[in-house]
Amino acid sequence: MSLTAQTYWAEHALLDTGVEPGVVIETGADGRIKAVRRGAAAPPPGAVTLRGITLPGLANAHSHAFHRALRGATQAGEGTFWTWRDVMYRVADNLTPDNYFALARAAYAEMALAGITSVGEFHYVHHLAGGARYDNPNAMGEALIAAAAEAGIRITLLDTCYLSSGFGAEPNKHQRRFSDGTAERWAERVSALKGDDNTRIGAAIHSVRAVPAEELATVAAWAQEREAPLHLHLSEQTAENDACVEAHGFTPTALLSHHGVLGPRTTAVHATHLTPGDIRLLGHSGTGVCMCPTTERDLADGIGPARALQEAGSPLSLGSDSHAVIDLLEEARAMEMDERLHTRTRGHWTAVQLLRAASADGHAALGWDEAGRIEPGALADFTAVALDTVRTAGPPYVLAAETAVFAASAADVRDTVVGGRHIVRDGTHQLVAHVPAALAESIAAVRG
Ligand SMILES: [Zn+2]
Repeated sequence: MSLTAQTYWAEHALLDTGVEPGVVIETGADGRIKAVRRGAAAPPPGAVTLRGITLPGLANAHSHAFHRALRGATQAGEGTFWTWRDVMYRVADNLTPDNYFALARAAYAEMALAGITSVGEFHYVHHLAGGARYDNPNAMGEALIAAAAEAGIRITLLDTCYLSSGFGAEPNKHQRRFSDGTAERWAERVSALKGDDNTRIGAAIHSVRAVPAEELATVAAWAQEREAPLHLHLSEQTAENDACVEAHGFTPTALLSHHGVLGPRTTAVHATHLTPGDIRLLGHSGTGVCMCPTTERDLADGIGPARALQEAGSPLSLGSDSHAVIDLLEEARAMEMDERLHTRTRGHWTAVQLLRAASADGHAALGWDEAGRIEPGALADFTAVALDTVRTAGPPYVLAAETAVFAASAADVRDTVVGGRHIVRDGTHQLVAHVPAALAESIAAVRG
């Protein structure tokens, strides 16, 4: 990616000192922030103006891009997570490297329009329907990497090991294309994937259902050798907890701990139904937790103990997971609101703390430790939220972070800059011509 140096002038920006008016952000040809200057009342000559409040770029730490095709389609009638999963599998059956590329490019473009600068793609649809390998066994993962590059956002491809339908059961007919057979063969395939300036390769364990206990350490070792992020779905459903205790005599968290899976480079996604012992194991090992509040409420999962996990030592990140909506500001708001409903008290996190989960801590969970801050040396990834819309007009600028988190939506994002490149300019994606049309066409193609 070739770049030229660029100067941006943010009307307001969220820096480590709080919300500051008139901030000059100089970006270099290396895609990093060169200098940050406060107190510039007007844009310097040649600077690009960013109206509203400029925030560090948002990190969507948990995504399954193809779930974007289910939006609106699973809301009629009764059901549970498990009935929703049946519908989701029917879409997974239809994916090819070409149609998945088109769908992911459109979904990632939607993310850029929502201020997201990095996505953690928890990717498990690896093989042909039925389970045979593509000629290029990483055709699907590479399609997702290419899709993120075309949409202008960074990706951490969390290539997911998925071997079993549940505690020893063979994969069912939908799940065969997820499986490499063994963790050893998973590791062989994933080792051929390459990162670049825009891409990091990480690992994932789909869940304790989908990876037999004796295979967990192979995946953990692969990630550890490469100092790569390792993600996993954890205790989203009580049925999974019950089956795990029955099969192994341990909760999922304890099982993962026994097999060396937990640690500061590991992120547990959901962590909804935990025992006090689970919370201690996660917190004391420094394992991160990714909450996906809009999906958890959509799927009627329950409310996870986010505050208790953070107090125990787990950094928190946020993800839009099933993409019922793609709005990291809403995820941040929802984490606080869920905690309020659960405890009937307010004020568990400040707006700035919630934005930290949506940005710096999310980036760290994805292996982009050098993103998520507007400061010299950091990756030049930031996004501007308008303060003059019907949702955001009125509060003084000193309350701009509160306004962004507690009142704005993705629709208020005006500009997104990734690696110094102006990807979204005044609400228009600069690389993908018509994002709604790209979504409509690619979704129609995979829904058949
Ligand atoms: Zn997920």
